[in-house]
Amino acid sequence: MTTRLVIVGGSDAGISAALRARELDPTSDVTVLVADAFPNYSICGLPFFLSGETPDWHDLAHRKVPDIEGHGIRLLLEHRATHVDPASHHVGVQDPAGTERFLEYDRLVIGTGAVPVLPPIEGLDLPGVHVLHTMGDSFSIREQLDRGDVRAAVIVGAGYIGVEMVDALRHRGIDVTLVEQMPSVLTTVDPELGQDIATEFARHAVHVATGTRVDRILDKDGRLHVVGSGGFEQVADLVLVVVGVRPDVDLARSAGVALGEHGAIDVNRKMETSVAGVYAAGDCVHTWSRMTQSHRYMPLGTTSHKQGRVAGENAVGGHAEYAGSVGTQVVKLFDLVAARTGLRDHEARAAGFDPLTVDATFDDHKAYYPGATKLRVRITGDRRDGRLLGAQLLGHRNAEVAKRVDVYAGALYHEMTVDAISELDLSYTPPLASPWDVVQMAAQAWERERRAAPLH
Ligand SMILES: Cc1cc2nc3c(=O)[nH]c(=O)nc-3n(C[C@H](O)[C@H](O)[C@H](O)COP(=O)(O)OP(=O)(O)OC[C@H]3O[C@@H](n4cnc5c(N)ncnc54)[C@H](O)[C@@H]3O)c2cc1C
Repeated sequence: MTTRLVIVGGSDAGISAALRARELDPTSDVTVLVADAFPNYSICGLPFFLSGETPDWHDLAHRKVPDIEGHGIRLLLEHRATHVDPASHHVGVQDPAGTERFLEYDRLVIGTGAVPVLPPIEGLDLPGVHVLHTMGDSFSIREQLDRGDVRAAVIVGAGYIGVEMVDALRHRGIDVTLVEQMPSVLTTVDPELGQDIATEFARHAVHVATGTRVDRILDKDGRLHVVGSGGFEQVADLVLVVVGVRPDVDLARSAGVALGEHGAIDVNRKMETSVAGVYAAGDCVHTWSRMTQSHRYMPLGTTSHKQGRVAGENAVGGHAEYAGSVGTQVVKLFDLVAARTGLRDHEARAAGFDPLTVDATFDDHKAYYPGATKLRVRITGDRRDGRLLGAQLLGHRNAEVAKRVDVYAGALYHEMTVDAISELDLSYTPPLASPWDVVQMAAQAWERERRAAPLH
């Protein structure tokens, strides 16, 4: 019997679910409802569209509409799912003309993603104040940038999207001020690395105001005045508020599914919700952490793709399980790349480990070959049993930081000890590495310190 699969959401999670379902069951009848007109666009690429490095937004499509439809997937663009009735297996849908109709499903996948958090700042509705999550958000920003009169911008929030946008707007020659209420920038890594990042920002003439909370944005004589704690005041033409996202669970609520961590949809590792026949994946769900063996809210593209694939497989009768995330992320900021995987010291302690974090810096490749740069690594391991718990890296964009953090991510997945990292057969040639790669030298530095530091 043909499975009628309805998927709500046409981004990373929804399209991954649809592709996997059709791959495993070519007889399945798959319909994807997408609220906007941009299915399978890489919103991760928006900072590069806004910087002008990827000038044409069409290029951000992971796949074009005909490619998706070529997989036998029915796409209903600008169709918003309004509610779900799990008793009768119907989804209410509003088409572009505003007409309501119903779609019947055997299985439903909810992949509605996330929406930007709007902090309590007065004046968020003023022209020139933006958030950045959808293609539509990027078009409003781009339209303002293309008018050519943006001289100064304020970015509120120094998470990874905030710092990417610092880079993007400086690329356009705009004067940028980054405001963060925490004491350091890029709060996903330790303040020690945040210091180096702030130095890189200073090198690129970015003004950084940490420990500062923005309260108000005022329109004075056609320019925006951003006002915050400690007497902060900055005049700008464009303000970008990027302080995080929250799961979009309105549709899930209408279906009566239970919510879990951070108000995200409660799913098990099969991506099943609490309602029979309804699956969910991506930024709207909580994520199983392999590190803490618990659910956490970790909205990321990498995670959304994997969870969507599991949901799609199971929706057509499979038995897949999401393996869990170790929390790997990487971001480029000017000439630096910052990456992390696993737990930081305080997170490890909160999870019941006995963490030791060791900071070490090495050349990314043999110094006698031109172009060697310093790569800083902070390894966190459990001093009791030597298990690797996390790693943070900061280095030059040519220093293969992303792939090096992935070695640690692989080690975390397999619950390796820090010591065992030295046994990995990693590649070496002088222009790219050393006989002991940085990944391994940092592990050895951790082991040395562990031996020297008594257990407590
Ligand atoms: C600027 C930026 C940069 C990023 N960079 C990275 C990165 O470098 N690496 C990384 O791993 N992650 C990155 N992310 C995060 C990543 O993009 C998200 O984790 C990922 O897109 C989530 O995918 P999703 O499918 O769960 O949801 P979303 O991408 O939020 O998509 C939700 C989908 O649901 C649709 N929808 C919502 N409600 C309805 C409804 N009622 N009816 C029909 N359709 C509906 C929307 O139209 C959309 O198609 C970035 C995000 C942003 C904004």
